[in-house]
Amino acid sequence: MHQYSIAEMSQGLERGDFTSVELTQHFLDRIDEHNAEINAFVTVTAELALEQARNADAVRAAGQAGPLTGVPFAHKDIFCTDGVRTSCASKMLDPFVAPYDAAVVERMREAGMVMLGKLNMDEFAMGSSNETSYYGPVKNPWDTERVPGGSSGGSAAAVAARLVPAATGTDTGGSIRQPAAFCNLTGLKPTYGRVSRYGMIAFASSLDQAGPFGRSAEDCAYLLSAMAGHDERDSTCANEPVPDYIGALDQPLKGIKVGLPKEFFGEEMPASIRESVDAAIEVYRAQGAEIVEVSLPNAHLSVPVYYVVAPAECSSNLSRMDGVRFGHRCEDPKDLQDLYTRSRAEGFGDEVKRRIMVGAYALSAGYYDAYYLKAQQLRQLISDDFKKAFEQVDFLLSPTAPETAFKFGEKGDDPVSMYLSDIYTIAVNLAGVPALSMPGQTVDGLPVGIQLIGNYFDEARLLAAAHQFQLATDYHKASPEAFA
Ligand code: GLN
Repeated sequence: MHQYSIAEMSQGLERGDFTSVELTQHFLDRIDEHNAEINAFVTVTAELALEQARNADAVRAAGQAGPLTGVPFAHKDIFCTDGVRTSCASKMLDPFVAPYDAAVVERMREAGMVMLGKLNMDEFAMGSSNETSYYGPVKNPWDTERVPGGSSGGSAAAVAARLVPAATGTDTGGSIRQPAAFCNLTGLKPTYGRVSRYGMIAFASSLDQAGPFGRSAEDCAYLLSAMAGHDERDSTCANEPVPDYIGALDQPLKGIKVGLPKEFFGEEMPASIRESVDAAIEVYRAQGAEIVEVSLPNAHLSVPVYYVVAPAECSSNLSRMDGVRFGHRCEDPKDLQDLYTRSRAEGFGDEVKRRIMVGAYALSAGYYDAYYLKAQQLRQLISDDFKKAFEQVDFLLSPTAPETAFKFGEKGDDPVSMYLSDIYTIAVNLAGVPALSMPGQTVDGLPVGIQLIGNYFDEARLLAAAHQFQLATDYHKASPEAFA
Protein backbone atom coordinates (compact mmCIF):
# COMPACT_ATOMS: atom_id res chain seq x y z
CA MET A 1 0.00 0.00 0.00
CA HIS A 2 2.85 2.38 0.80
CA GLN A 3 4.13 2.25 -2.78
CA TYR A 4 0.90 3.66 -4.20
CA SER A 5 0.85 7.09 -5.78
CA ILE A 6 -1.64 9.65 -4.50
CA ALA A 7 -3.86 8.96 -7.52
CA GLU A 8 -3.78 5.21 -6.80
CA MET A 9 -4.66 5.79 -3.14
CA SER A 10 -7.46 8.09 -4.11
CA GLN A 11 -8.85 5.53 -6.58
CA GLY A 12 -8.42 2.66 -4.10
CA LEU A 13 -10.38 4.61 -1.48
CA GLU A 14 -13.08 5.47 -3.99
CA ARG A 15 -13.44 1.83 -5.12
CA GLY A 16 -13.55 0.69 -1.51
CA ASP A 17 -10.40 -1.48 -1.84
CA PHE A 18 -9.40 -0.11 1.57
CA THR A 19 -10.63 2.55 3.99
CA SER A 20 -8.78 5.64 5.11
CA VAL A 21 -8.55 4.11 8.58
CA GLU A 22 -6.74 1.07 7.12
CA LEU A 23 -4.46 3.23 5.01
CA THR A 24 -3.68 5.51 7.94
CA GLN A 25 -2.98 2.58 10.27
CA HIS A 26 -0.66 1.06 7.67
CA PHE A 27 1.46 4.23 7.57
CA LEU A 28 1.36 4.66 11.36
CA ASP A 29 2.73 1.10 11.63
CA ARG A 30 5.51 1.95 9.19
CA ILE A 31 6.40 5.04 11.20
CA ASP A 32 6.53 2.90 14.35
CA GLU A 33 8.77 0.40 12.63
CA HIS A 34 11.16 2.70 10.78
CA ASN A 35 11.18 6.22 12.14
CA ALA A 36 13.95 5.53 14.65
CA GLU A 37 16.26 4.62 11.75
CA ILE A 38 15.90 8.01 10.05
CA ASN A 39 14.49 10.42 12.68
CA ALA A 40 12.12 12.05 10.20
CA PHE A 41 9.12 12.60 12.48
CA VAL A 42 9.43 14.78 15.58
CA THR A 43 5.77 14.31 16.53
CA VAL A 44 3.40 11.53 15.53
CA THR A 45 -0.28 12.42 15.95
CA ALA A 46 -1.67 8.88 15.77
CA GLU A 47 -4.95 9.47 17.60
CA LEU A 48 -5.74 12.63 15.71
CA ALA A 49 -4.87 10.90 12.43
CA LEU A 50 -7.22 7.99 13.11
CA GLU A 51 -9.99 10.40 14.06
CA GLN A 52 -9.46 12.34 10.81
CA ALA A 53 -9.40 9.04 8.89
CA ARG A 54 -12.71 7.91 10.42
CA ASN A 55 -14.15 11.25 9.52
CA ALA A 56 -12.84 10.94 5.95
CA ASP A 57 -14.44 7.50 5.62
CA ALA A 58 -17.75 8.93 6.79
CA VAL A 59 -17.50 11.81 4.29
CA ARG A 60 -16.82 9.30 1.53
CA ALA A 61 -19.72 7.08 2.60
CA ALA A 62 -21.93 10.16 2.35
CA GLY A 63 -20.78 10.66 -1.24
CA GLN A 64 -18.99 13.92 -0.47
CA ALA A 65 -15.35 12.91 -0.95
CA GLY A 66 -12.86 14.92 -3.00
CA PRO A 67 -9.75 13.43 -4.60
CA LEU A 68 -7.67 13.86 -1.42
CA THR A 69 -10.25 12.78 1.14
CA GLY A 70 -8.66 10.20 3.43
CA VAL A 71 -5.15 10.40 1.94
CA PRO A 72 -2.46 10.55 4.67
CA PHE A 73 0.42 13.06 4.64
CA ALA A 74 2.52 15.03 7.15
CA HIS A 75 3.60 18.64 7.73
CA LYS A 76 7.06 20.10 8.14
CA ASP A 77 7.18 21.29 11.75
CA ILE A 78 7.25 24.92 10.64
CA PHE A 79 3.47 25.09 10.11
CA CYS A 80 1.37 26.03 13.12
CA THR A 81 -1.00 23.21 14.04
CA ASP A 82 -3.77 23.95 16.52
CA GLY A 83 -3.20 21.98 19.73
CA VAL A 84 -0.09 20.20 18.40
CA ARG A 85 3.51 21.13 19.20
CA THR A 86 5.05 23.37 16.52
CA SER A 87 8.76 23.41 17.21
CA CYS A 88 10.62 24.53 14.08
CA ALA A 89 13.11 21.94 15.40
CA SER A 90 14.39 24.53 17.88
CA LYS A 91 14.83 24.31 21.63
CA MET A 92 13.26 27.78 21.57
CA LEU A 93 9.90 26.42 20.41
CA ASP A 94 10.18 22.90 21.84
CA PRO A 95 7.45 23.65 24.42
CA PHE A 96 5.28 25.66 21.98
CA VAL A 97 1.81 24.34 21.17
CA ALA A 98 0.26 26.48 18.45
CA PRO A 99 -3.11 28.03 19.28
CA TYR A 100 -4.27 28.04 15.65
CA ASP A 101 -3.76 26.35 12.27
CA ALA A 102 -1.62 27.75 9.45
CA ALA A 103 -3.51 28.42 6.21
CA VAL A 104 -1.84 25.41 4.57
CA VAL A 105 -2.85 23.18 7.49
CA GLU A 106 -6.42 24.44 7.29
CA ARG A 107 -6.64 23.90 3.54
CA MET A 108 -5.31 20.38 3.62
CA ARG A 109 -7.65 19.48 6.41
CA GLU A 110 -10.56 20.95 4.44
CA ALA A 111 -9.47 18.80 1.48
CA GLY A 112 -10.00 15.82 3.80
CA MET A 113 -6.34 14.84 4.14
CA VAL A 114 -5.16 12.96 7.21
CA MET A 115 -2.18 14.44 9.09
CA LEU A 116 0.11 11.75 10.53
CA GLY A 117 2.40 14.16 12.36
CA LYS A 118 5.10 16.81 12.18
CA LEU A 119 8.42 16.42 10.41
CA ASN A 120 11.96 17.19 11.46
CA MET A 121 13.89 20.01 9.78
CA ASP A 122 16.90 22.26 10.18
CA GLU A 123 16.35 24.66 13.07
CA PHE A 124 14.11 27.49 11.83
CA ALA A 125 14.68 26.17 8.28
CA MET A 126 18.31 27.32 8.23
CA GLY A 127 20.52 24.72 6.63
CA SER A 128 21.06 22.33 3.75
CA SER A 129 21.70 19.08 5.58
CA ASN A 130 19.22 18.76 8.44
CA GLU A 131 22.10 18.63 10.91
CA THR A 132 21.00 21.71 12.89
CA SER A 133 17.79 20.26 14.36
CA TYR A 134 17.40 20.35 18.14
CA TYR A 135 16.03 16.79 17.81
CA GLY A 136 19.10 15.46 16.06
CA PRO A 137 19.92 14.91 12.40
CA VAL A 138 17.63 13.23 9.89
CA LYS A 139 19.18 10.36 7.95
CA ASN A 140 18.88 9.77 4.24
CA PRO A 141 16.97 6.52 3.59
CA TRP A 142 19.17 5.88 0.53
CA ASP A 143 22.24 5.71 2.77
CA THR A 144 21.83 6.41 6.46
CA GLU A 145 25.42 7.69 6.71
CA ARG A 146 24.42 10.58 4.50
CA VAL A 147 22.32 13.70 4.97
CA PRO A 148 18.84 13.94 3.44
CA GLY A 149 19.42 17.59 2.48
CA GLY A 150 17.75 20.49 4.18
CA SER A 151 16.05 22.29 5.53
CA SER A 152 12.98 20.12 4.81
CA GLY A 153 15.03 16.96 5.38
CA GLY A 154 12.40 15.25 7.54
CA SER A 155 9.77 15.74 4.84
CA ALA A 156 12.04 14.31 2.15
CA ALA A 157 13.29 11.36 4.22
CA ALA A 158 9.79 10.41 5.40
CA VAL A 159 8.40 10.33 1.85
CA ALA A 160 11.48 8.56 0.44
CA ALA A 161 11.23 5.84 3.12
CA ARG A 162 7.49 5.62 2.38
CA LEU A 163 6.56 6.42 5.96
CA VAL A 164 4.06 8.84 4.50
CA PRO A 165 2.78 9.25 0.93
CA ALA A 166 3.48 12.98 0.67
CA ALA A 167 4.51 15.94 2.77
CA THR A 168 4.68 19.70 2.92
CA GLY A 169 7.90 21.67 3.03
CA THR A 170 9.10 25.24 2.75
CA ASP A 171 11.71 26.69 0.45
CA THR A 172 13.53 29.95 1.19
CA GLY A 173 16.67 29.22 -0.82
CA GLY A 174 16.28 25.60 -1.89
CA SER A 175 14.84 23.74 1.08
CA ILE A 176 12.23 21.80 -0.87
CA ARG A 177 14.22 21.20 -4.04
CA GLN A 178 17.60 20.21 -2.59
CA PRO A 179 16.26 17.54 -0.17
CA ALA A 180 13.94 16.31 -2.94
CA ALA A 181 17.07 15.92 -5.09
CA PHE A 182 19.01 14.07 -2.37
CA CYS A 183 16.11 11.67 -1.68
CA ASN A 184 14.86 10.96 -5.24
CA LEU A 185 11.58 12.84 -4.90
CA THR A 186 9.70 15.49 -6.79
CA GLY A 187 9.43 18.73 -4.83
CA LEU A 188 7.93 22.01 -5.94
CA LYS A 189 8.60 25.54 -4.78
CA PRO A 190 5.65 27.54 -6.11
CA THR A 191 5.75 31.17 -7.23
CA TYR A 192 6.20 33.54 -4.29
CA GLY A 193 2.62 34.37 -3.24
CA ARG A 194 1.00 31.24 -4.72
CA VAL A 195 0.54 29.64 -1.28
CA SER A 196 -0.38 31.55 1.88
CA ARG A 197 2.35 32.04 4.47
CA TYR A 198 -0.20 32.64 7.24
CA GLY A 199 0.81 30.54 10.24
CA MET A 200 4.06 29.37 8.65
CA ILE A 201 6.82 30.40 11.03
CA ALA A 202 8.77 33.12 9.22
CA PHE A 203 12.45 32.75 8.36
CA ALA A 204 12.94 35.28 5.51
CA SER A 205 9.49 36.60 4.67
CA SER A 206 10.25 37.88 1.16
CA LEU A 207 11.64 34.48 0.13
CA ASP A 208 9.71 31.83 2.12
CA GLN A 209 7.24 29.73 0.19
CA ALA A 210 5.45 26.49 1.06
CA GLY A 211 5.19 23.61 -1.38
CA PRO A 212 4.65 19.88 -1.76
CA PHE A 213 6.91 16.79 -1.73
CA GLY A 214 5.71 13.70 -3.55
CA ARG A 215 7.08 10.84 -5.55
CA SER A 216 6.05 12.39 -8.83
CA ALA A 217 4.90 15.60 -10.47
CA GLU A 218 1.43 14.10 -10.46
CA ASP A 219 1.53 13.68 -6.66
CA CYS A 220 2.69 17.29 -6.37
CA ALA A 221 -0.17 18.46 -8.62
CA TYR A 222 -2.65 16.83 -6.22
CA LEU A 223 -1.09 18.50 -3.21
CA LEU A 224 -0.66 21.92 -4.77
CA SER A 225 -4.34 21.91 -5.73
CA ALA A 226 -5.14 21.79 -2.03
CA MET A 227 -2.44 24.23 -0.90
CA ALA A 228 -2.67 27.06 -3.44
CA GLY A 229 -4.97 30.03 -3.40
CA HIS A 230 -5.65 33.52 -2.15
CA ASP A 231 -5.70 34.25 1.57
CA GLU A 232 -6.50 37.68 2.98
CA ARG A 233 -4.44 36.96 6.09
CA ASP A 234 -1.19 37.05 4.10
CA SER A 235 -0.87 40.36 2.27
CA THR A 236 1.76 38.91 -0.08
CA CYS A 237 -0.49 36.03 -1.12
CA ALA A 238 -1.54 36.55 -4.73
CA ASN A 239 -5.14 36.90 -5.79
CA GLU A 240 -4.67 34.68 -8.84
CA PRO A 241 -7.10 31.94 -9.85
CA VAL A 242 -5.92 28.39 -9.09
CA PRO A 243 -5.83 26.37 -12.32
CA ASP A 244 -6.66 22.67 -12.58
CA TYR A 245 -3.14 21.30 -11.98
CA ILE A 246 -4.19 17.68 -12.39
CA GLY A 247 -6.16 18.24 -15.58
CA ALA A 248 -3.24 20.19 -17.07
CA LEU A 249 -0.68 17.37 -16.69
CA ASP A 250 -1.25 15.95 -20.15
CA GLN A 251 0.20 18.76 -22.21
CA PRO A 252 2.68 17.49 -24.79
CA LEU A 253 6.22 18.83 -24.84
CA LYS A 254 6.41 19.27 -28.58
CA GLY A 255 7.39 22.78 -29.53
CA ILE A 256 8.27 24.00 -26.04
CA LYS A 257 11.57 25.73 -25.51
CA VAL A 258 13.86 24.70 -22.69
CA GLY A 259 16.69 27.09 -21.83
CA LEU A 260 20.01 26.05 -20.35
CA PRO A 261 21.45 28.97 -18.35
CA LYS A 262 25.05 29.05 -19.50
CA GLU A 263 26.26 30.41 -16.16
CA PHE A 264 25.09 27.15 -14.53
CA PHE A 265 26.86 24.94 -17.03
CA GLY A 266 30.43 26.07 -16.37
CA GLU A 267 33.49 24.13 -15.26
CA GLU A 268 32.22 24.02 -11.65
CA MET A 269 29.53 21.50 -12.51
CA PRO A 270 30.92 18.06 -11.56
CA ALA A 271 31.13 15.63 -14.51
CA SER A 272 28.87 13.04 -12.85
CA ILE A 273 26.11 15.58 -12.26
CA ARG A 274 26.62 16.88 -15.79
CA GLU A 275 26.05 13.39 -17.17
CA SER A 276 22.75 13.10 -15.39
CA VAL A 277 21.66 16.54 -16.59
CA ASP A 278 22.68 15.72 -20.16
CA ALA A 279 20.57 12.55 -20.01
CA ALA A 280 17.57 14.64 -18.89
CA ILE A 281 18.13 17.14 -21.70
CA GLU A 282 18.05 14.24 -24.17
CA VAL A 283 14.69 13.09 -22.81
CA TYR A 284 13.25 16.53 -23.52
CA ARG A 285 14.83 16.72 -26.94
CA ALA A 286 13.46 13.30 -27.85
CA GLN A 287 9.97 14.48 -26.98
CA GLY A 288 10.17 17.40 -29.36
CA ALA A 289 11.35 20.19 -27.07
CA GLU A 290 13.79 22.71 -28.46
CA ILE A 291 16.88 23.20 -26.30
CA VAL A 292 18.51 26.63 -26.36
CA GLU A 293 21.22 28.37 -24.39
CA VAL A 294 20.18 31.38 -22.32
CA SER A 295 22.00 33.70 -19.96
CA LEU A 296 21.37 34.72 -16.36
CA PRO A 297 24.27 37.17 -16.16
CA ASN A 298 23.76 38.08 -12.50
CA ALA A 299 23.06 34.59 -11.17
CA HIS A 300 26.56 34.31 -9.74
CA LEU A 301 25.60 37.03 -7.24
CA SER A 302 22.70 35.02 -5.82
CA VAL A 303 24.43 33.27 -2.93
CA PRO A 304 26.09 36.44 -1.55
CA VAL A 305 22.90 38.47 -2.05
CA TYR A 306 20.83 35.78 -0.33
CA TYR A 307 23.22 35.67 2.63
CA VAL A 308 22.55 39.35 3.27
CA VAL A 309 18.79 39.42 2.59
CA ALA A 310 17.87 36.16 4.37
CA PRO A 311 19.83 36.82 7.59
CA ALA A 312 18.56 40.43 7.67
CA GLU A 313 14.95 39.27 7.51
CA CYS A 314 15.56 36.43 9.95
CA SER A 315 17.16 38.73 12.52
CA SER A 316 13.99 40.78 12.41
CA ASN A 317 11.54 37.85 12.33
CA LEU A 318 13.23 35.95 15.15
CA SER A 319 13.26 38.98 17.46
CA ARG A 320 9.79 37.89 18.58
CA MET A 321 11.32 34.81 20.23
CA ASP A 322 12.19 36.68 23.39
CA GLY A 323 11.32 34.31 26.22
CA VAL A 324 8.19 36.34 26.98
CA ARG A 325 5.71 35.33 24.33
CA PHE A 326 6.82 32.04 22.82
CA GLY A 327 8.49 28.87 23.94
CA HIS A 328 11.63 28.61 25.98
CA ARG A 329 12.21 30.88 28.99
CA CYS A 330 15.39 30.79 31.08
CA GLU A 331 15.24 29.91 34.80
CA ASP A 332 15.15 32.68 37.42
CA PRO A 333 15.84 35.76 35.31
CA LYS A 334 17.45 38.63 37.26
CA ASP A 335 15.67 41.29 35.24
CA LEU A 336 14.08 41.81 31.84
CA GLN A 337 17.38 42.14 30.00
CA ASP A 338 18.63 38.92 31.55
CA LEU A 339 15.36 37.20 30.57
CA TYR A 340 15.78 38.21 26.93
CA THR A 341 19.45 37.45 26.56
CA ARG A 342 19.58 34.19 28.46
CA SER A 343 16.37 32.82 26.93
CA ARG A 344 17.71 33.54 23.45
CA ALA A 345 21.23 32.32 24.22
CA GLU A 346 19.82 29.04 25.53
CA GLY A 347 17.01 28.64 23.00
CA PHE A 348 18.81 29.16 19.68
CA GLY A 349 21.43 26.90 18.12
CA ASP A 350 24.72 28.07 16.59
CA GLU A 351 23.59 28.46 12.98
CA VAL A 352 20.54 30.49 13.99
CA LYS A 353 22.72 32.74 16.15
CA ARG A 354 25.18 33.20 13.31
CA ARG A 355 22.38 34.31 10.98
CA ILE A 356 20.87 36.69 13.54
CA MET A 357 24.26 38.33 14.08
CA VAL A 358 25.00 38.68 10.36
CA GLY A 359 21.52 40.07 9.76
CA ALA A 360 21.58 42.54 12.63
CA TYR A 361 24.97 43.77 11.38
CA ALA A 362 23.75 44.19 7.78
CA LEU A 363 20.73 46.16 8.99
CA SER A 364 22.60 48.41 11.44
CA ALA A 365 22.61 52.16 10.73
CA GLY A 366 26.16 52.38 9.43
CA TYR A 367 25.96 49.35 7.14
CA TYR A 368 22.39 49.32 5.85
CA ASP A 369 23.23 51.10 2.57
CA ALA A 370 26.40 49.14 1.98
CA TYR A 371 24.86 45.71 2.53
CA TYR A 372 21.08 45.47 2.73
CA LEU A 373 20.25 48.17 0.19
CA LYS A 374 22.95 46.96 -2.18
CA ALA A 375 21.69 43.39 -1.91
CA GLN A 376 18.14 44.54 -2.72
CA GLN A 377 19.41 46.35 -5.83
CA LEU A 378 21.26 43.26 -7.01
CA ARG A 379 18.18 41.17 -6.29
CA GLN A 380 16.30 43.29 -8.81
CA LEU A 381 18.95 42.58 -11.46
CA ILE A 382 18.67 38.84 -10.76
CA SER A 383 14.86 39.00 -11.18
CA ASP A 384 15.24 40.96 -14.43
CA ASP A 385 17.52 38.21 -15.78
CA PHE A 386 14.72 35.66 -15.32
CA LYS A 387 12.16 37.94 -16.95
CA LYS A 388 14.41 38.30 -19.99
CA ALA A 389 15.09 34.57 -20.15
CA PHE A 390 11.35 33.81 -20.09
CA GLU A 391 10.85 36.07 -23.10
CA GLN A 392 12.86 33.47 -25.02
CA VAL A 393 11.98 30.12 -23.44
CA ASP A 394 9.22 28.30 -21.55
CA PHE A 395 11.39 26.66 -18.90
CA LEU A 396 14.95 26.63 -17.64
CA LEU A 397 16.73 23.39 -16.81
CA SER A 398 19.70 22.84 -14.51
CA PRO A 399 20.89 20.48 -11.81
CA THR A 400 19.18 21.07 -8.46
CA ALA A 401 22.38 20.78 -6.45
CA PRO A 402 26.08 20.63 -7.31
CA GLU A 403 26.48 17.23 -5.59
CA THR A 404 24.69 14.13 -4.38
CA ALA A 405 23.88 13.61 -0.68
CA PHE A 406 27.04 14.14 1.37
CA LYS A 407 28.11 12.47 4.62
CA PHE A 408 27.30 13.78 8.08
CA GLY A 409 29.84 16.28 9.34
CA GLU A 410 31.39 16.72 5.92
CA LYS A 411 30.62 20.43 5.81
CA GLY A 412 30.31 20.94 9.55
CA ASP A 413 33.18 23.37 10.02
CA ASP A 414 32.63 25.31 6.87
CA PRO A 415 29.37 27.24 6.62
CA VAL A 416 30.30 28.68 3.21
CA SER A 417 30.65 25.25 1.61
CA MET A 418 27.23 24.40 3.09
CA TYR A 419 25.80 27.65 1.68
CA LEU A 420 27.08 26.71 -1.79
CA SER A 421 24.81 23.64 -1.78
CA ASP A 422 22.09 26.03 -2.94
CA ILE A 423 24.05 27.57 -5.79
CA TYR A 424 21.47 26.53 -8.41
CA THR A 425 18.34 27.07 -6.31
CA ILE A 426 18.73 30.43 -4.56
CA ALA A 427 18.33 32.75 -7.57
CA VAL A 428 14.83 31.29 -8.04
CA ASN A 429 13.74 32.47 -4.57
CA LEU A 430 15.30 35.91 -5.07
CA ALA A 431 13.29 36.29 -8.29
CA GLY A 432 10.16 34.63 -6.86
CA VAL A 433 9.58 32.29 -9.83
CA PRO A 434 8.41 28.67 -9.38
CA ALA A 435 10.78 25.70 -9.73
CA LEU A 436 10.76 22.00 -9.03
CA SER A 437 13.27 19.24 -8.57
CA MET A 438 12.63 15.81 -10.07
CA PRO A 439 14.66 12.62 -10.04
CA GLY A 440 17.28 12.15 -12.77
CA GLN A 441 19.80 9.42 -13.48
CA THR A 442 21.57 8.33 -10.28
CA VAL A 443 25.32 8.65 -9.62
CA ASP A 444 26.94 5.77 -7.70
CA GLY A 445 23.52 4.66 -6.50
CA LEU A 446 22.67 8.10 -5.12
CA PRO A 447 19.82 10.26 -6.42
CA VAL A 448 20.45 13.35 -8.56
CA GLY A 449 17.88 16.12 -8.91
CA ILE A 450 17.01 17.87 -12.14
CA GLN A 451 15.69 21.39 -11.62
CA LEU A 452 13.04 22.86 -13.90
CA ILE A 453 12.29 26.56 -13.46
CA GLY A 454 9.13 28.20 -14.80
CA ASN A 455 7.74 31.69 -15.29
CA TYR A 456 5.62 33.42 -12.63
CA PHE A 457 2.42 31.46 -11.83
CA ASP A 458 3.18 28.89 -14.51
CA GLU A 459 3.07 25.93 -12.09
CA ALA A 460 0.53 24.05 -14.19
CA ARG A 461 2.82 23.89 -17.22
CA LEU A 462 5.86 23.30 -15.03
CA LEU A 463 4.22 20.26 -13.42
CA ALA A 464 3.08 19.08 -16.85
CA ALA A 465 6.63 19.34 -18.22
CA ALA A 466 7.87 17.24 -15.29
CA HIS A 467 4.99 14.77 -15.67
CA GLN A 468 5.82 14.24 -19.35
CA PHE A 469 9.45 13.62 -18.36
CA GLN A 470 8.26 11.06 -15.80
CA LEU A 471 6.07 9.30 -18.36
CA ALA A 472 9.23 8.76 -20.39
CA THR A 473 11.57 7.79 -17.53
CA ASP A 474 11.61 5.48 -14.50
CA TYR A 475 14.00 7.42 -12.25
CA HIS A 476 11.19 8.60 -9.96
CA LYS A 477 9.94 5.05 -9.41
CA ALA A 478 13.03 3.91 -7.53
CA SER A 479 12.86 3.81 -3.74
CA PRO A 480 15.47 2.83 -1.14
CA GLU A 481 15.66 -0.96 -0.76
CA ALA A 482 16.02 -0.88 3.00
CA PHE A 483 12.53 0.62 3.22
CA ALA A 484 10.83 -1.28 0.41
N1 GLN B 1 20.01 26.26 2.70
C1 GLN B 1 19.49 27.58 2.68
C2 GLN B 1 19.71 28.24 4.02
O1 GLN B 1 20.34 27.64 4.81
C3 GLN B 1 18.03 27.58 2.33
C4 GLN B 1 17.15 27.17 3.44
C5 GLN B 1 15.71 27.19 3.07
O2 GLN B 1 15.35 27.19 1.88
N2 GLN B 1 14.87 27.27 4.07
O3 GLN B 1 19.29 29.32 4.30
